[in-house]
Amino acid sequence: MDERYETHECDVLVVGAGGAGLRAAIEASAQGVRTALVCKSLLGKAHTVMAEGGIAAALGNVWPEDNWKVHFRDTMRGGKLLNNWRMAQIHAQEAPARVLELEEWGALFDRTRDGLILQRDFGGHRYARLAHVGDRTGLEMIRTLQNHAVHKGIDVYMECTIQRLLKDGDRIAGAIGYWRENGRFVVFKAPAVVLATGGIGKVYKITSNSWEYTGDGIGLALQAGADLIDMEMVQFHPTGMVWPPSVRGILVTESVRGDGGTLRNASGERFMFNYIPEFFRTETADNEKEADAWYEDKRNNRRTPDLLPRDEVARAINAEVKAGRGSEHGGVFLDIASRRPADYIKKRLPSMYHQFRELADVDITSAAMEVGPTCHYVMGGVRV
Ligand SMILES: Cc1cc2nc3c(=O)[nH]c(=O)nc-3n(C[C@H](O)[C@H](O)[C@H](O)COP(=O)(O)OP(=O)(O)OC[C@H]3O[C@@H](n4cnc5c(N)ncnc54)[C@H](O)[C@@H]3O)c2cc1C
Repeated sequence: MDERYETHECDVLVVGAGGAGLRAAIEASAQGVRTALVCKSLLGKAHTVMAEGGIAAALGNVWPEDNWKVHFRDTMRGGKLLNNWRMAQIHAQEAPARVLELEEWGALFDRTRDGLILQRDFGGHRYARLAHVGDRTGLEMIRTLQNHAVHKGIDVYMECTIQRLLKDGDRIAGAIGYWRENGRFVVFKAPAVVLATGGIGKVYKITSNSWEYTGDGIGLALQAGADLIDMEMVQFHPTGMVWPPSVRGILVTESVRGDGGTLRNASGERFMFNYIPEFFRTETADNEKEADAWYEDKRNNRRTPDLLPRDEVARAINAEVKAGRGSEHGGVFLDIASRRPADYIKKRLPSMYHQFRELADVDITSAAMEVGPTCHYVMGGVRV
């Protein structure tokens, strides 16, 4: 070993141990190549663990009418047809197989009465489509993938930050990083590197993302000569916490609205009815009676405007606040307590219940949450 740095060799180096990196490492290892996985936090602590509401996949368990084509349509419409249609197609077609694979590897999803994987409503989706485990889906996902990866014998290097990709002429030759514990350098020699380092949320002051989301992989790729694409496509989730200041931006899952929560401004008005775009008008309830009927009987065709795609809802909240109709702390109110009993809320949304109790001293089974937009997700990245 060179005194200045240690060296490891593998065939495929995967940078990042969230859902994407773990799944890539499992696949590489299954192909029989020596695989190494590097992450800058502890294994199991990647952002994926924070995913709450569920995994969108047209399994058709709750709505037999659902299929990948409707999911594809919803995705394209949500993206105002600016999406890369081929990516959206692959995603819609393959999602059910990925969910079933997780189940095969040991993930325990919530069930329907018939014992199938239960699916819940989310913004922009025509049918209840999200496979979930309460509002802690990411925890189950990472637990399953991590166990599977570890049993495959993949070499894991934790608390190691990759800082630069190495090249031999025009070809990738590995990466260099440092151990977070002592700052010593470490070199990984590898003819193939997979970048799976997550998003860029920490570019923004108010974000649902953790300290890890600093766009490292995007920077590494750019330095190595790769192209970036669609970096201006940043998603603002409509509902982050707004109060107290120390928790501003922490996510309030869309499942709150999927499970019965509605948005109101400071005067108690359900303002989303004023913000239904022409594009979604035929499928969106335009009055309280119809929206409430949808909540109680989801066979009704016209969905509540509270579940329009995220950009629409985030812009509507912003407009309400700017017009002076916001809450005391610059948000709006999200109320599930007046529609659902306490037991239901605690069972379906256990993390939200604890999050508000512990961080904001609000009991969401009896009071409304104060919420506002928060930077959540980046659709752009390295061109592939
Ligand atoms: C609060 C919250 C709730 C969410 N809920 C949902 C949901 O219900 N449904 C849904 O579909 N999506 C949800 N999302 C989005 C979803 O969690 C992410 O899109 C997904 O987890 C990203 O997975 P990933 O593997 O790409 O990245 P991550 O899980 O973030 O993994 C990134 C990995 O890269 C590593 N890394 C980063 N930089 C470096 C570096 N320089 N060197 C070494 N390692 C590095 C990190 O340590 C980590 O292991 C949610 C996101 C948040 C924040």
